[in-house]
Formats: sequence, C-alpha cells, structure tokens
Amino acid sequence: MTATGTAVAVDAVTVRYDSGAAAVTPLEDFSVQVRPGELAILLGPSGCGKSTLLSIIGGMRSATSGSIRVGDAELTAMTALQLDVFRHDQVGYVFRRSNLVPSLSAVENVAVPLLVKGVPRRDALASATSVMERVELLSLLDRRPDELSSGQKRRVSVARALIADPPLLLADEPTARLDHIGAQTMITLLQSLASDGRTVIVATHDPRFVPVADQTVHMVPDLSSSMGAPTTVTFDPGETIFWQGSRGDRVYVLESGEVEVLNQLADGSEELITAVGAPGHVGAVSPRLGFPRASTARARTAVRAISYSVVDFEKLQSAQVETASSDDEPTIVAAPAEEAPAVVPPPSEELPTLVAEPSAAADETGSPDVPPPPP
Ligand code: ADP
Ligand code: MG
Repeated sequence: MTATGTAVAVDAVTVRYDSGAAAVTPLEDFSVQVRPGELAILLGPSGCGKSTLLSIIGGMRSATSGSIRVGDAELTAMTALQLDVFRHDQVGYVFRRSNLVPSLSAVENVAVPLLVKGVPRRDALASATSVMERVELLSLLDRRPDELSSGQKRRVSVARALIADPPLLLADEPTARLDHIGAQTMITLLQSLASDGRTVIVATHDPRFVPVADQTVHMVPDLSSSMGAPTTVTFDPGETIFWQGSRGDRVYVLESGEVEVLNQLADGSEELITAVGAPGHVGAVSPRLGFPRASTARARTAVRAISYSVVDFEKLQSAQVETASSDDEPTIVAAPAEEAPAVVPPPSEELPTLVAEPSAAADETGSPDVPPPPP
C-alpha cells in the first residue's frame, strides 16, 4: 500500500440536530484544515461533536451549512451516488464498535468490502492478507472475532478500513476500552499509517495521541480560562443575550431589569424555564463545563448587567463566601490571584450524553446569591 494522502478542508460548518425534544448544535461555524499525510486528532470530551465532524468528513452525514472539501471534491455538492463512490474509494472508516462478523475469520472480515464489491474471493483474500500484515496481525488470519483481544479486533477493523487503500482514514475513538498495551499499539499503528503518506483523522478524548499528532484540534475552546475585563452591558427589551447552542465565555450579573431563560425546542418554538432579576446571574454553568449554552437568555425588560469572564466570576463568588464568613469585615475581599478556577472533569465517555449534560434549568440561571461587584 502506497497511499497518497488527501487534504481536508472544513469551512464554517454548522450541524444542527432537530430530532430530539431540544435542538442541539454540536458544530457551529466550525473550520479546520488537515494537510495531506497529516495525523490530526479531534480532541474533546464526550458530546462535543467529534463523531459528528468525523462522519461529515467521511460523507456519511450532511452538514446544515458550510463547506467540506476532501481533495478536489466538495462533498456538499455531491449526489447520493457520488457520495457512495466517494465513501468507497476515498475513505476508510474505523467505527467505535469493531462490528466484525462473528462467523467469519479475521482475514475474511477484512476482505468483506471487496467481496461485497464482487472481487473474486481469492483476490480479495490475498489483498486482505497483505493488509493484515500491515497491521501486524499476520499470525491471526484465521481467528474468529471471539478469539481475538479487544485491541486485535480493533486492528482488524483498521485493516478492513484500509482494504481499498483509501487516501483518508477516519477513526472514531480507536483506543476506547483498550488496555495501555492495546492503546499504545493502536496509536503507533495510526501514526505509522499517516507516515506512509495517508491522511489520518482520529476523533478521541485520549490525550495520549497528542504527542504523536501533527495537529491537535481542540473541539472545545477552554472558556474556563479565557479572560477579558468585566464590562457593563445593556440590552433592550426582547434582545437576546446569548443563544442556546452557542459557545460563550461570559457570565452576566444583573444590575437591573429582568432576563428570561428559554429552551429552544426542535420544532422552532420556545419554552420559558425561568426569569431572573437583579442581583441574579445568567450564563455561569456552560462555559465552566465547556458545553455550548444549554438555553437562551433574553432581556424581558431593559437590562443592565456586568459581563464577567468565568475566572473573574469565580473570584467574585469566592469573595462573597469569604465576606459571608467574616464578622466585622463588610467589604468584599478579592480572591487570591493565584487561586485556580475550579476544574470540572469532563463527563465520562461511557455516560450517555443526555445524562452528562447539565439540565437546562440548572444551567444558565443563578439564584440571586451574587452581590453587585465592588465599586
Ligand atoms: P462526541 O463524538 O464528541 O461525543 P457527537 O458528535 O456524538 O459527540 O454528539 C454531539 C452532540 O450531538 C451530542 O449532544 C449528541 O447527543 C448530539 N447528536 C449526535 N448525533 C445525533 C443525532 N443523530 N440526532 C440528534 N442528536 C445527535
Ligand atoms: Mg463520539
């Protein structure tokens, strides 16, 4: 196999799912470029849109808007038939689950894509054998999936993805549930496949890929550490402060007026969750967790608020706690500058996303427990 990699350019892609009760926008105006022969990793916690992006690059899902170019081809301009051909000729896809046929041997599993295409069995098995050699499984050709370790099964599925010698290999969580030896073997294998000249894109939450990657795409910007001085902002009645699904890094502490917190439903309607008045706050939870906003905040009346970075907002809150526990010191004491913001671990990969997401009502609203900032 002497694959030549292909360039991938994702430009201003938005993906919106309307199938559930609430509309979900895992990708919003998202762009990334991967050069031919590069190993790129899409890194981020569960639910941030890694699999969505991978399947869009692989022509398996369509974007709501934006452009996806793979080599010379613009995927959004392709017919269903052209996409079929593209997927078969250009893309090797390693799914999260190995999906091997239990009754077939390892080499037969690898040969399946060729057999389905009508390649004679002898030729298909010969090609499959050479790919099995490439992933260092030559000694396990005749094993059935239940006689293979998780890591070996995963490598068989990599071999199957490589059988048509595609210039682009996409792998979704290829090290999930592997022990460290299996994970190391997989990471080394994917690195070497990229070194052959193939373009390899891996969706993962496994930071062990970072040292070998040519490009690490952080799918979730680290909003919890973004700065920006507190500023006074005003909103007219009916003006939206932030939209559900957008990514924002500001927390709004109200000085006057009232804010409605709403859920945007999949059918386009809105559902009022609550209303927040001064001195409450909106927008505190999602940026800290690295999630898109779980609800929309809109000014019900004229609103005046102070917009804080997450870091400053947390200092404000800890200052409030200190003040509350002090008998004779009524002024707000600033939190120590070196104090790190609370770090919230990403949700476990195995948890269903809906469980991992903060509930909308708990997300963007704050009880009026934050005092106005010090003058
Ligand atoms: P990741 O791979 O980073 O865990 P996904 O791309 O699988 O993230 O999902 C991103 C978000 O989109 C999640 O909130 C998920 O629930 C939602 N989602 C994914 N696929 C669908 C779908 N087919 N219909 C509705 N929502 C979806
Ligand atoms: Mg995923």
